[in-house]
Amino acid sequence: MKNEDIKVAKKLLSSPKKILIIPHKNPDGDAMGSCLGLAHYLESQGHQALVIAPNDYPDFLKWLPGTEQVLIYENQKELSTEKIGAADLCFSLDFNAMDRIGDLGPAIQKHFNGDHIMIDHHQQPADYALITYSDVTMSSTCEMVYHFIDALGHEDLISENTANCLYTGIMTDTGSFRFPSTTSTTHRVVASLMDKGAANSDIHNRVYDANSPERLQLLGRALSNLTALEEYHTAYITLTSEELEKHKFKKGDTEGFVNYGLSLKGIRFAVIFIENAQEGIIKISLRSKGDFSVNDFARSHFSGGGHINAAGGRSEMNMQATIEKFVNLLPQYKDQLTK
Ligand code: 5GP
Ligand code: MN
Repeated sequence: MKNEDIKVAKKLLSSPKKILIIPHKNPDGDAMGSCLGLAHYLESQGHQALVIAPNDYPDFLKWLPGTEQVLIYENQKELSTEKIGAADLCFSLDFNAMDRIGDLGPAIQKHFNGDHIMIDHHQQPADYALITYSDVTMSSTCEMVYHFIDALGHEDLISENTANCLYTGIMTDTGSFRFPSTTSTTHRVVASLMDKGAANSDIHNRVYDANSPERLQLLGRALSNLTALEEYHTAYITLTSEELEKHKFKKGDTEGFVNYGLSLKGIRFAVIFIENAQEGIIKISLRSKGDFSVNDFARSHFSGGGHINAAGGRSEMNMQATIEKFVNLLPQYKDQLTK
């Protein structure tokens, strides 16, 4: 973080404030962990902190300390709007542009009159905040929140609640400390969070061993639908809305499915296409190993973005047409995928 930005942040936080903290739409472990971890820290400093999520998040995160205070904009528009109007500082965590928070974006633009601080590790951050702490080399926004608190001189004030929240997001965004974004510093941060009370083994159990039988059977369906295109080192999975309904799909059930494509020997590019009948779109998750940028691919062809090795996007065509478009794109990437 730049020294100048640290000074500005210290000044902003030197008197009690009403602070909003916002994660991206469809919040994941890093988004909710960073928001709630930061909220506990800010509360300990005498501020009022409120997390407003654009929409709901998976049950396997609903044990995070502070989860009961979170407002869901989609379901609580009136109360959220009132809180947005009353706030004087807003943190954007784990997203890089206002269009990543759905209908909450226009609401903030209309009703919020204070300063913005962005803390994020996605590519190509938009330039709207007073402080933009962006670092695309970071494992997770949770790791960045740790560095942010440290830069304010308060590393020793990190509580057990903050430690549990930040550990969760680092763990989920690094695929349990295995992705290349995991550095020795990440491990030092994690060690420090454990010293402060992060219950590492419990967190793994709560996040990864919270399956329902329906979810495991949905995974079985997804794996049966997997197609490997060895010539392109690519694998993709499809799930239609009928298949999701049949297995009583709940938010978060498909989290992590895309990674099974990458577990195939020789596969470097894995994609899952999930039909969302309600929104009339196909939601796409893309993952890669090595230099192949799924951020560029998702931005160029599927109205999305993210990181080099993990990105998301969408298609407004039906499943069959979307798959056709995807498969037809592969030849132009053959060199990148096979080198
Ligand atoms: P996931 O595939 O798990 O939904 O998302 C992977 C990564 O890409 C996450 O960091 C997420 O924030 C980002 N991402 C997901 N969907 C979109 C999208 O539609 N647009 C952009 N810009 N980023 C996305
Ligand atoms: Mn993240």
